[in-house]
Amino acid sequence: MVMASNPGTNAAPPFDLSGGHPALDFVNSLDNRYGKDGPAELLGSYGDLLRFAEQSQLLDAQRARLLARSVSPVAAARALRTARELREALAALLYGQLEGRVPARADILVLERRFHDAGRHRELRWESSEAGLPGHAKLQWQWGRSAKAADFPVWLVAHAASQLLSSNTMEQLRACGAETCRWLFLDTSKNHTRRWCNMKVCGNRAKARRFQQRHAE
Ligand SMILES: [Zn+2]
Repeated sequence: MVMASNPGTNAAPPFDLSGGHPALDFVNSLDNRYGKDGPAELLGSYGDLLRFAEQSQLLDAQRARLLARSVSPVAAARALRTARELREALAALLYGQLEGRVPARADILVLERRFHDAGRHRELRWESSEAGLPGHAKLQWQWGRSAKAADFPVWLVAHAASQLLSSNTMEQLRACGAETCRWLFLDTSKNHTRRWCNMKVCGNRAKARRFQQRHAE
């Protein structure tokens, strides 16, 4: 689904998070993936990757600003490449699953590597309770020092993706019914009948097309 740009401002339009999960919204950041006029890259820069992670609530604004300021251009370019590679491996696996295809070993290996990266950078910390009450303190997984690494947003996406891919939520995975769109989403509707990534865009477009066809007959 192609987003309308924001008239009157130079700011990039916000990411459309219709997928219902950060890993699916991430795959959707290569827009118009199967369209005849070619895909449109919404992750054009490291800044876009940070914006995506922040808008998906994987990353807080303060850390996003810190990374935008501190990451070198070379490290940023490398992290962006890693992010896109992860995205395409996820796309191959998820669309393959919808179409009943066995995933390629190379794609599984990319996922495995990034999922391991994400796991390895989490730190186990002892958190005492705010009120200092005994018995309320516990061990917690935190990102700690890794939050300053250029690849941090990639690890956040990889961690979210590994949780989704190994959960029963995968039964709700669907692709938008519009052939030019095919965005991934989770169908959480009561009767499991959701067909469009976004009813307002793809749903209405399909309705308009059916209307035209009926009136052309
Ligand atoms: Zn759509």
